[in-house]
Amino acid sequence: MHMLSKIFGHLRNIIVHKYWVYHFGRKLGISRWRLLKHDLSKFSPIEFWESIKFYQGTSSPIPPCKKANGYSNAWQHHKGRNPHHYEYWTDNYDSGTTLIPMPFECLCEMLADWCAAGRTYQGKDWSFISQCDWWENKKTLNPSIHPLTIKRIDLFFDKYVRNPFEWWVEYRDDLKLVYERDIYDWAHKYD
Ligand SMILES: [Zn+2]
Repeated sequence: MHMLSKIFGHLRNIIVHKYWVYHFGRKLGISRWRLLKHDLSKFSPIEFWESIKFYQGTSSPIPPCKKANGYSNAWQHHKGRNPHHYEYWTDNYDSGTTLIPMPFECLCEMLADWCAAGRTYQGKDWSFISQCDWWENKKTLNPSIHPLTIKRIDLFFDKYVRNPFEWWVEYRDDLKLVYERDIYDWAHKYD
């Protein structure tokens, strides 16, 4: 594929993705400012040019890069700067990896990001049901996500996605309270 078509295709994907993150994110009550800043590091040279090199069009360029090189510099750069990725919330690699519960706003932004990624790459074929299936499959891979966060992601897929958007912000407020109480208890368990 011609270099210029890859550049335009990639730019288009970023913009369409940001549009859908904004769409789902607003339904989840995330601030406009936070949503506008979403994934801006994709415009940094280290992320941008690697993504052009491994451009796929209908899926992320990160997995093919990891396949070719064993790792991805773009992903290393991205996950370290964007707290809406659960990989950001891990530590202590010398002693088996500690999982940290994601702050509530980061969790909501991740859910918007996941739905938006599905919607961007699958287009009209995407649905909340297909997104639920994706999550069920991902869970079987045992991802490095704190159990408290997993519990709330499950609730999102069980409850939110079956309900019209008008209810989302109400649910969000309830969810925020219980989730933050869980995290508080977790953080003070050594007191
Ligand atoms: Zn991101």
